[in-house]
Amino acid sequence: AATAARVPSRAAFAVPIEAGTGAAVSLQGVGKAFGEQTVLDDVHLELRAGSVTVLIGPSGAGKSTLLRLINHLERADSGFVTVGGQLIGYRRDGDTLYELPEGEIRRRRAEVGMVFQGFNLFPHMTALENIIEAPIAVRGISRAQAEQQARTLLERVGLADKADAFPRQLSGGQQQRVAIARALALQPKVLLFDEPTSALDPELVSEVLSVIEELASSGTTLVIVTHELGFARRVADHVVMMDQGRVIEQGTPDALFEHPRQQRTADFLAKTL
Ligand code: ADP
Ligand code: MG
Repeated sequence: AATAARVPSRAAFAVPIEAGTGAAVSLQGVGKAFGEQTVLDDVHLELRAGSVTVLIGPSGAGKSTLLRLINHLERADSGFVTVGGQLIGYRRDGDTLYELPEGEIRRRRAEVGMVFQGFNLFPHMTALENIIEAPIAVRGISRAQAEQQARTLLERVGLADKADAFPRQLSGGQQQRVAIARALALQPKVLLFDEPTSALDPELVSEVLSVIEELASSGTTLVIVTHELGFARRVADHVVMMDQGRVIEQGTPDALFEHPRQQRTADFLAKTL
């Protein structure tokens, strides 16, 4: 069983591999099981700052769990995750669990934004209120400053005129664009998208993809789980194919889509295209 240990200084968390690579996100030997089921198996990933990574793979491959680990919504059973060269909160070393203080974990978590399939807006708040809530609560900025920033973000996602609309008054595509603005409001180092268009009617997909595409060219580090392979080809710098909890293949969009080395990748692409 793991022994919890408080580590007194931040220096104790210096992980040798973070120093050299400059990776925005790094997963080293990450494993995760739910009960008897292994969901992630020895996953290694290094994502460059400013890069766009698209994660593909069949349902149940472990894609959402991987995103949730980067965002510290789940905890790895083995290995560790760093964001911006800093541990996301804990590290297991054999049987020893090193854990950061709660406040520090919360601070680091705010550096990773996440956009979910189901929008997850607060239904009783307007678009503007949804966006300013976290910056005020987490970053402690003034309401006036938060509102000014929120209006800029709404403009960026093409919804300048919807500041006072409630989620129920917006289409799914508009709600998802508000959710993206809300994630951006915390100025995350890394933004994660978990099938951001899967819950949308087909005619609303492209407006959300365009917003993500604009972000992709703006230098934010993005990790996107999607089945929209045409989109993936356009925006991705790096494509990662997962199956049964493992990264089975990764490379440039050209390499992966045109010349998959694994039969399972070829089969998946043929089924999804
Ligand atoms: P994907 O996003 O690629 O479809 P997931 O990461 O959601 O895959 O799930 C991988 C596997 O882990 C699935 O078999 C799923 O049922 C299981 N799983 C995910 N979350 C949990 C959980 N909280 N408890 C138990 N099993 C889970
Ligand atoms: Mg999923």
